[in-house]
Amino acid sequence: MIRVRFAPSPTGFLHLGNVRTALFNYLFAKRQGGKFILRIEDTDRERSREEYRQALSEDLLWTGIRWDEGPGVEGEYGPYLQSERLEIYQSYVNRLLDQGKAYACYVTEAETEEMKHLARLEKRPPRFDNRGRFFTAQEIAERKARGIKPTVRFKIENPMLRMHDLIRGEVKFNLDDMMGDFVIQRADGSPTFHLAVCVDDALMKITHVIRGEDHLSNTPKHILLLEAMGFKPPQYGHLSLIHGPGGEPLSKRLEAVSLREFRKRGYFPPALANAIALLGWSPGDNREIFTWQELQQVFDLARIGKSASIFDPHKLDWVNGQHLRSLSDQDFVRLSAAYLKEYKKLPFDEKQVLKLLPVFKDNIERFEQLTERLEILSEEFSYEDEALLKTPQAKEVLQAALEVLPSIPTAAESGYEAFVNALKPKVKATGKNLFMPIRLALTGKEHGPELKRIFPILAFENLKKRFERALSLN
Ligand code: GLU
Repeated sequence: MIRVRFAPSPTGFLHLGNVRTALFNYLFAKRQGGKFILRIEDTDRERSREEYRQALSEDLLWTGIRWDEGPGVEGEYGPYLQSERLEIYQSYVNRLLDQGKAYACYVTEAETEEMKHLARLEKRPPRFDNRGRFFTAQEIAERKARGIKPTVRFKIENPMLRMHDLIRGEVKFNLDDMMGDFVIQRADGSPTFHLAVCVDDALMKITHVIRGEDHLSNTPKHILLLEAMGFKPPQYGHLSLIHGPGGEPLSKRLEAVSLREFRKRGYFPPALANAIALLGWSPGDNREIFTWQELQQVFDLARIGKSASIFDPHKLDWVNGQHLRSLSDQDFVRLSAAYLKEYKKLPFDEKQVLKLLPVFKDNIERFEQLTERLEILSEEFSYEDEALLKTPQAKEVLQAALEVLPSIPTAAESGYEAFVNALKPKVKATGKNLFMPIRLALTGKEHGPELKRIFPILAFENLKKRFERALSLN
């Protein structure tokens, strides 16, 4: 049984990078009939916040990602909050100490810092020189007497390591160059990320670890630690970085790419998931639009590329637009109304808004754009081309419009057609010269949804007011 996990630290809002990690794990598990586990890595007490923990659950659910085990969905391998597993970590530290695979290290933080500093000056890799391993009993006693609390370090015994990465293929590490014995328990008794992640991956029976490339250099530590604890390491796959549109690392603008921000800007979750899936993965043909269900059927780890991907907000908008077009009118209205309710207070009659919404399905990219589009309902809008409305030709059209209006069944679906037919014989203007003054007078804009759809929604009173208002310009 395939078991994967998403293991965020609740130290900020979820962003594009970690949502992609969650999504790839989720899709991989779903396609294989496996389980997706949510584990909260909250051992960093200073930076972890309850607010972020709640937000990340909400954001995952909003995206469509549901965990089979995790907070709120207790399973066999819980608890799923690392802060509730401290005793478990302690028992593994004790075992490693007893077996001589780890040791209490009385080297102070200041000494370690100095070591790194010197190494940098001498252009050597800033690695720990393992000196704490060789302290004599007397040295240790002296340090204890000075009140120094030890960390626990894991001994690296075999520095050459090879692994097969699911995405990058064969990767070789020479740990002698990279690192010395590393800390698994801090001086305050708390476990480090390395220890907690290994113990949990093992005890939660994780089979595949798919995570960001920033963790690649941690993986040899994890493999050695797992083996030392008597576990078989999972398979690892490291996802390449995501860059912003200008090639800059995404980490420079995390706020702009937080899930909260995407939500506020009015993206449709399955479309966002679709666009995120394309950051690094491709289906192997030219297809780019996938429903949530389809993604779960076609996603394949083997088709994840090694090179960095570029996040292009225009592409995301395009994908989102495509998804909106394929919604039924009913779903579009339901989703847009929910969005507007949550994020925008509009000074319009709700019934009219609901009637008008479907008109925009084909010409918005994101729900946020509805605010501007709905200004059609405002009576105070300004005109994109006021000068045009002041020309004698336009005035003739507007005048004639007011004359024919009372005899038209404006509320009927065919109202606009009847209106145009009645208008044509009365004016000289044809084509664009006929339609543009009408469009401007009714909507203020040069482009927008089809007039025949807006016409019955505005209905007689509103149409009359708008033609009069435009005609009164001088
Ligand atoms: N808590 C880690 C992070 O947020 C996850 C590490 C992992 O996936 O192994 O980066």
